[in-house]
Amino acid sequence: MSETRQQKILLIDDQPDVHLLVKGRLSDMGAEIVSAYSAQEGLRLVREQSFDLILLDYMLPDCDGLTVCRTLKKDPLSSRVPVIFLTVIADDQTKVAAFDAGAADYVTKPFAYPELRARVRSALRNQQLIAELDHRATTDILTGLANRALFLDRLEQAIQRARRVKGYHYAVLFIDFDRFKLINDSMGHPAGDELLVQIGQRLRATVRGIDSVCFMDASPVPARLAGDEFVLLLDGLCTVSDANLIAERLLVRLAEPFRVQGSDLFCTASIGVATSTQGADSALHVLRDADTAMYEAKLAGRSRAVTFDESMLLRAQHRLRLETDLRQALANNQLQVHYQPIVSLTDAGLHGFEALLRWTHPQHGSISPAEFIPIAEETGMIIPIGEWVLREACRQFVQWQRDFPLRCPVSVAVNLSRNQLMLPDLAERVQTIIRETNINPGALHLEVTESAVMKDIAFARNALAQLQKLGVTLCMDDFGTGYSSLSCLHEFPFKVLKIDRSFVANLTRGRDFCALVQTIVTLAGNLGMTVVAEGVETNDQVATLQAMDCQYGQGYLFGRPAAPADLAFTKNETPRPGLNNAA
Ligand code: C2E
Ligand code: MG
Ligand code: MG
Repeated sequence: MSETRQQKILLIDDQPDVHLLVKGRLSDMGAEIVSAYSAQEGLRLVREQSFDLILLDYMLPDCDGLTVCRTLKKDPLSSRVPVIFLTVIADDQTKVAAFDAGAADYVTKPFAYPELRARVRSALRNQQLIAELDHRATTDILTGLANRALFLDRLEQAIQRARRVKGYHYAVLFIDFDRFKLINDSMGHPAGDELLVQIGQRLRATVRGIDSVCFMDASPVPARLAGDEFVLLLDGLCTVSDANLIAERLLVRLAEPFRVQGSDLFCTASIGVATSTQGADSALHVLRDADTAMYEAKLAGRSRAVTFDESMLLRAQHRLRLETDLRQALANNQLQVHYQPIVSLTDAGLHGFEALLRWTHPQHGSISPAEFIPIAEETGMIIPIGEWVLREACRQFVQWQRDFPLRCPVSVAVNLSRNQLMLPDLAERVQTIIRETNINPGALHLEVTESAVMKDIAFARNALAQLQKLGVTLCMDDFGTGYSSLSCLHEFPFKVLKIDRSFVANLTRGRDFCALVQTIVTLAGNLGMTVVAEGVETNDQVATLQAMDCQYGQGYLFGRPAAPADLAFTKNETPRPGLNNAA
């Protein structure tokens, strides 16, 4: 840590006048001297506090000094603290025994004070040098905060203390900055570095001096760590619930803007909390628990603090297993594309299909995309998987056009994830697939969720413009869930607006919802967009949507997503999915 703190000496001696004299004679050396009058009291203080030097009486009433010294040297909390024996016996045998027990030095009583001062000064100076060397080896150069090695060491000490000292509590806060990567990518690394330094300073200023703040530089533990994560050790808490109060305070402080290169940057945080009451047995486990809780905080919607519990670990392990299995899924033919009809609400005609990915896991059976798509996105696997879906859907559509020239619908829609949208060569990749499969670009609809667009509007606008040049049709998916305002719709080249199913589900529940959906449909119409209502399940919803002039619908009423072989239109079935016969 970068702070220079006052050095601390522990004096263990049963004679009060020794304490008085030593304190008096060493008072100008700048070190704090803490008194213990018995071996037991001394050992207790060592467990509770950190010292730079121990002055130890050779003969104590409750235990001999040699045993105390051996105990101190065995304990990781005190093994590196030099011990100077204070002894009236100055024979060679005693001195050898003292050094054998781990003492750094000895001073004979009655003290020759210049000698005592010289030996104490020398021991403290050595300790200071060691601390400086340690500091260099254990400090992150950029932020001046503790690095991972030091943090783990301090955390290990806190775990030891919590085991042995009743009422001692600690907590670890794992802090991840929600938009850091974006800032790094868009403003460059010097700006990112400046932001990290400011974050470090703000964290340091928000906690007490005894707490440790660490910058997780290129940590090898979970693959997710991206060099923008901080951990905090809250040492010696009165109660573990204080950790939550501190986490909330940090969220408030961190939500204030950072001034970087002349701009105000907002960089909210997700915080995972693990405390001493959860009984993890090693520093790495505590860190893992706090990281797991941080991940849950992100899942729960970011900008929040979440405290670890065991069920999170089970979920994280399940996720990790799925992640490992998902890596094999594409190669092992466990992925399939299903298709869900999109129909005209005016004449019930089949208008198009949306391609929806399915994973048949060898042990767990069918796994919902809601569960595995986020994993694929987080690990980057969505890039090859998404590309496979796109190629497969285009190939299938062209085959349908060949096999069912009269019945084949006019379009096939494929979902693009935000990670795909961020690919600098996305348009070329899509173009290659269009060329390979020979699909008419106008028939290919690409769906992008509103939230993916809103995450980085400038980037999305550019990516969408590139795609538009290919002649594909762009659709805004799940509209209404991503906090974009209707007024910015015209800024993007979307031709289709898909109203999220949560709006459709609420249509029959109140006038306000109807009015809102009506506004969306009207505005989209004014902007020349067609509207698809998602999640249509009842005929009442159809009637309401028809009254609003909403052109298209998609939902279980018209057909669930199904494998190509199970789709009604490929079986020459009549009537087609209709408006008045629920599926
Ligand atoms: P989405 O793109 O909004 O797809 C529509 C989702 O709503 C599908 O869920 C569909 O099965 C479901 N749905 C359709 N009609 C109804 C209905 O009447 N009632 C209800 N309750 N649900 C209905 P699914 O297949 O579970 O997919 C969930 C999400 O996963 C998709 O939402 C999409 O965001 C994502 N996803 C699926 N396949 C892919 C893919 O190939 N690539 C990417 N990037 N994302 C995909
Ligand atoms: Mg979709
Ligand atoms: Mg949708």
